[in-house]
Amino acid sequence: MAKTKQFKTESQKLLDLMINSIYTHKEIFLRELISNASDAIDKRHYLALTNADLMTDYEILIDLDEEKRIITISDNGIGFTESELVNNLGTIARSGSKEFSESLDKADIEIIGQFGVGFYSAFMVSKKVTVITKSVNSNDAFKWVSTGTSTYTISNTEKEEAGTKIILELRDNNEDTEENYDQYISEFTIKDLVKKYSDYVRYPIKMDITKYDYPEDKEKEPIVYKELETLNSMIPLWKKNKSEITEDEYTDFYKHQFNDYTEPLIVIHTKVEGKTTYTSLLFIPKKAPFDLYSEKYEKGLQLYSKGVFIEDKNKELIPDFFRFVKGLVDSSDLTLNLSREMLQRDPKLKKIAKTIKKKIKSELEKMQKNERELYNEFYGIYGVNLKYGIYEGYGVNKELLQDLIMFKTTSSDDYVTLKEYIENKKDDQKHIYYATGKTKEAILALPQMDLLKEKDYEVLLFNDDIDEFMVNILMKYGDLEFKSVAQGDLDLIDKKEDKKLDKLSEDKKSLLEALKEGLDDKVSEVKLSKRLKESPVCLVSGEGLSMEMEKVLQNMPTGKDAKATKILEINPSHELFKTLEKVYENNPEKVKDYAKILYNQALLIEGLPLENPSEFSELMVALMIDLNK
Ligand code: ADP
Repeated sequence: MAKTKQFKTESQKLLDLMINSIYTHKEIFLRELISNASDAIDKRHYLALTNADLMTDYEILIDLDEEKRIITISDNGIGFTESELVNNLGTIARSGSKEFSESLDKADIEIIGQFGVGFYSAFMVSKKVTVITKSVNSNDAFKWVSTGTSTYTISNTEKEEAGTKIILELRDNNEDTEENYDQYISEFTIKDLVKKYSDYVRYPIKMDITKYDYPEDKEKEPIVYKELETLNSMIPLWKKNKSEITEDEYTDFYKHQFNDYTEPLIVIHTKVEGKTTYTSLLFIPKKAPFDLYSEKYEKGLQLYSKGVFIEDKNKELIPDFFRFVKGLVDSSDLTLNLSREMLQRDPKLKKIAKTIKKKIKSELEKMQKNERELYNEFYGIYGVNLKYGIYEGYGVNKELLQDLIMFKTTSSDDYVTLKEYIENKKDDQKHIYYATGKTKEAILALPQMDLLKEKDYEVLLFNDDIDEFMVNILMKYGDLEFKSVAQGDLDLIDKKEDKKLDKLSEDKKSLLEALKEGLDDKVSEVKLSKRLKESPVCLVSGEGLSMEMEKVLQNMPTGKDAKATKILEINPSHELFKTLEKVYENNPEKVKDYAKILYNQALLIEGLPLENPSEFSELMVALMIDLNK
């Protein structure tokens, strides 16, 4: 008895979109189904590494029934159990599919593979899809049938060998829309599509091909027969010599193998011979995978041993900060029948991972030097990963990554490396200065920038959340230390001036203390500024946590208590300072209100929330009334 089940709502929506799509490249259904078949064989093969009974001659068979207009794609892969049928073909609640259906309106259907809804593409060309399958883990076989409406059925059936058979009953041609489905029932088309999309699939894709034997006697009819042919070349691209591979071949391979619809930004193909021998073929996608920064994203490289597939995403091969790199490693030094756990501990694998890390670094560095525009594009997409890389693990990788990071600056709208920054610095400049803000304009308007602007020092613009955290780990580049324009002492005025200010601070001690009192414990200190030129006041932080870091941390669930020490600085040469002195002389209590107003203003400039906006407003109003009495 067949059980009828309902597709999950998400899936239903997607199916409708897929079936009614006006997309012209319906031919990709074949690529998707072959790719699923190949994945299923990979999975069986992986189990076979530790269970020799499962080893067999892997193959994918395509059969065409011209009369009935049926295409059958069979594999001897892992197969489905009953619950796998329900879970894998009855729902699209898996990764990304929801995002996919949401973006379908604008997006190209070619991204199907990337979102893991490949199987459903069968309905683009079929009015009925039947799946007959038997899992290697079960003695029972099942039949799944759907016409792409809201339901599907599952029933018991017979099947000799483990594996899956996908039977597609082609849709009727539509003369109005000129949709022709007969074209897929031709040997020629199928051969062509396999070559185009699935040539590198590592298992043979076989089909009966019609052959003709022409007798010598030209009068006689040729003898027609069928012969099973392998349609794909299966030669792994990475085994060929670099010089023999065209850019198009790399691109096709990448798209097919890693389910992307755009060409890669960067290709790195390396053969290493020596103590450990391996080939790696790495790609950096032009667009960051949509889930790169989500927890679901799985980094990793495909792992092969002598051309035989071992694992799809080996995490050990690629560090987190290069998680966006896709590709594969093929080594003759790795033993095939190692368990995953043992592989992870294999020192050879560690060695390969280390060389790959260095290789990616040196390729990026080369590109930074010789192809800056391309590097800029790369950096715009992935730069933040490199900064995380410096921060992670207390800076174990900072040496490796520090030359790859770049910043825009107060004097350059193009990215500048730290090396370039130092080459361009002023002779008397003792630090690498940075300032944090949303835009260049906002940073240039900061009071803390007064002196730096006067001295015409270049300042790095920080606008990623990670920047200040990273710099706290990096601390130095070459001999120069990083210095925030808004933290600690800036050390930019000459000795005489410095002494004079210290003396003045001594003289005005009671005023400064009164101001501090007005602010309770909101600030750790009120002091005369050694960094302000035009602006009346500013807020800076002490060493350690900065106010920007405080903002970032407070947005995290675990960082609610993060607090930067704040210091209110007053410009002693500003008109305002004289006013404060006067107010203090006439009414020492009044100066406390002034302190509160100044503090709140400084918070506003920093983009920090006011702690008590109504108090601030009342103080301003009182001040206005006062002034006009
Ligand atoms: P995916 O992108 O994950 O392959 P699909 O919708 O194409 O998405 O397939 C859904 C799931 O069904 C697959 O992840 C796989 O587990 C299973 N599957 C698909 N085709 C086969 C097959 N030929 N043999 C075994 N399992 C398969």
